[in-house]
Amino acid sequence: MALRPLPPSVDEALQTVHDELLEVDDGELPDYIPPLAKVDPRQFGLAVCTPDGGFTATGDHDVAFSVQSISKVFSLALALVDRGLDGVLEHVGVEPSGESFNAISLEEGTGRPDNPLINAGAMVTSSLVKADSAEERFDRIRAMLSASAGRELEVDENVFEQELEVADHNRALAHFMRSAGSLTADVDETLEVYLRQCAVLVTAGDLAVMAATLAAGGRNPLTDERVFSSDVARHVLTVMVTCGMYDASGEWMLRVGSPAKSGVSGGIITASPGQFGLGLFSPPLDEQGNSVRAVQACERLAERFSWHTLALPEDRRLPVELEDGDSETVSGGDSA
Ligand code: GLN
Repeated sequence: MALRPLPPSVDEALQTVHDELLEVDDGELPDYIPPLAKVDPRQFGLAVCTPDGGFTATGDHDVAFSVQSISKVFSLALALVDRGLDGVLEHVGVEPSGESFNAISLEEGTGRPDNPLINAGAMVTSSLVKADSAEERFDRIRAMLSASAGRELEVDENVFEQELEVADHNRALAHFMRSAGSLTADVDETLEVYLRQCAVLVTAGDLAVMAATLAAGGRNPLTDERVFSSDVARHVLTVMVTCGMYDASGEWMLRVGSPAKSGVSGGIITASPGQFGLGLFSPPLDEQGNSVRAVQACERLAERFSWHTLALPEDRRLPVELEDGDSETVSGGDSA
């Protein structure tokens, strides 16, 4: 299925937000992964994709960057496909950690990491993906990321190798979880699979399609492939609501109100079931490790389109249907 244009109001909104925020120079590049400290901080891309195959993008939407923590959403989806909800929950919790993404926070008694979207939990969920070898496990995660994006995604080997060299903290987390019993797989293999999935290259356009796959209940709007079930999509989106933006998840839900996930390279995805998937990219990060410009862009767009998940349906102003690329339909309320 080919992607087709969205109503002009969506293009216009993306462009306005892009132009308004282009001059914002707050935030810092992460320095603990060397290649991420060397990128151009001015890069800024936004893209939106709808479950019925509408697509529009602006700015640096086709610049490739490593997906980093956004991959955690899709390795969780695969672990859920392979093990079911109870099988995953046996090894990892689903509670916000209230701490940073690399925190050592394991549940007393069980040793479970707090949730699958912090590093500790993500290493455990990756290790739950069924495979006979670490290589096959990574191939299956990459295939899941690719199917969600609707194209074959590659690994940035340089990002992978350089992060592996400085991975003492993540390695320590993995050892800690093994001693606590929540990680049963080999530490080195777990670390390699996890860091390789973080080094998969995407664009903001890919992220929009990946988010739209979640918004469409697991069906990729670009390829029409059923990548995972609607139950898996709902489970993943639920964890994104409470844990996706790390220690800023509460304020994000107040101000933006849609399930989201950020990554240390400056990407964010957010999705509204049945409505849209949004992919954003801007490298400088705030103190919680979320992209400064991408967060602000989502706040502005959420206000413009009233897309909060808990808003009354009649208060929403999202374009949900498009006929022949030129007419605009809104779901109740006044046209935006
Ligand atoms: N690869 C990064 C790490 O493990 C991912 C962190 C992130 O994107 N927040 O530290």
